Amino acid sequence: MVLEKLSNSLKNTLSKIAKSLFVDEKLINELAQDIQRALLQADVNVNLVFQLTKKIKERALNEKPIKNISQKEFLIKIVYEELTNFLGKEKSEIIIERKKPFIIMMVGLFGSGKSTSCGKIANYYKKRDFKVATLGLDVHRPAAPQQLKQLSDQIKIPCYIDEKEINPIKIYKKFEKEFKNYDILIVDTAGRDALSQDLINELEKLYNLIHPDENLLVISADLGQAAQSQAETFHKASHITGVIVTKMDGTAKGGGALSSCSATQSKIKFIGTGEKVNDFEVFNPPGFVSRLLGMGDIELLLEKAQEAISQEDAKHLEKKLLKGEFNLIDLYEQMEAMKKMGPISKIAEMIPGFSQLKLPKDMLQVQEEKLKKWKFALDSMKKEELENPDIIDHSRLERISKGSGIPTSEIRDLLKQYKQAKKMMKMLKGQNPEKLMKKFKGKIPGF
Ligand code: GDP
Ligand code: MG
Repeated sequence: MVLEKLSNSLKNTLSKIAKSLFVDEKLINELAQDIQRALLQADVNVNLVFQLTKKIKERALNEKPIKNISQKEFLIKIVYEELTNFLGKEKSEIIIERKKPFIIMMVGLFGSGKSTSCGKIANYYKKRDFKVATLGLDVHRPAAPQQLKQLSDQIKIPCYIDEKEINPIKIYKKFEKEFKNYDILIVDTAGRDALSQDLINELEKLYNLIHPDENLLVISADLGQAAQSQAETFHKASHITGVIVTKMDGTAKGGGALSSCSATQSKIKFIGTGEKVNDFEVFNPPGFVSRLLGMGDIELLLEKAQEAISQEDAKHLEKKLLKGEFNLIDLYEQMEAMKKMGPISKIAEMIPGFSQLKLPKDMLQVQEEKLKKWKFALDSMKKEELENPDIIDHSRLERISKGSGIPTSEIRDLLKQYKQAKKMMKMLKGQNPEKLMKKFKGKIPGF
């Protein structure tokens, strides 16, 4: 996961609280020191760290727990709340106005991840049923327009570029009439190695021409706390409305980048967590901190699930479930949808309580491998077998095994899993969701 090291230190700190016999000043001081150490290691600014732990200590010593909460739980609550405040308190969402087009412009230094983020943000809104296009105005790097084109092709949206033109203003004007056909236009701009007067002038000109609704600064997380001065310099020079922090996956310094950006006037809107187009999420401090502390992030989980399964598919599946008609094709489709949500290890960390189980990494890996093999087996089945798996006898099993290259024992595993899933569904059928929640309450941490 992102910030794994910080997350592990914080989780250890919390489990220390859970294991302690009682909450006293010594424990609170120890807790503050642990948090300081963890945050400093993540390159968070020293002053910010001391302000934070001072606040935690003050609250822990002076506030009394509200009823029904033990002292220990209260202490954990304070840590959670203060860390959340520290990272910006709440989600700072972009409200997309229906104005055809709503324009989002990306600015930032060379290599910070602007073009990649153009693709990611386009994908994010396309999945939410907006009509999106990209516009490439990086005229300084020869390969830049093609890069944006490839990213746009990958998510199947139009991309406006002109590789022969060296004046970005002319490129914008050339295509301007077409943009009203889209809900959102995402504009990629050029960067430099440092924020120079040249770059400021170019961005200023583009800003005055395009008047973007959002002007997002793209910053790489590996800058650590140095992100703050970069964010402030850009803010002064070019009307920044928000920040995207990229490459959260590749650095232990991400804590520094997030906290120092949160300390500036512009709020973090998204974070990039990998090179792929889906490695992107809305930055939601409460959910983010919850995941860091090993408490999951239900909101993000639901969001990813919604992205992966279209409303129509979900309705279709629900109907089948209600009729008890769940077959292997549905299992297959579910597996495909799961795959779209990302690797199992990433999904697992969003589920409350899951990361507290401290599952070994290879166990998830094994599960992932198994799914891959099952998919091969399903590909080798005939339609009638998928629709009615009960007809799969020994000779059919042999045939499927030969066709897919998967041993019969593993195909039996798959069929067993299917039967169990079907049984579960029957049990859940017609159950009142609220009653179910009650049943699970207390058993799954975080529920
Ligand atoms: P630009 O010059 O600002 O347009 O930067 P690019 O979008 O071309 O990205 C520079 C490099 O960073 C590319 O190799 C990207 O694949 C990589 N990159 C961008 N965002 C992320 C991220 O969130 N995680 C990782 N690991 N790599 C990223
Ligand atoms: Mg670029």
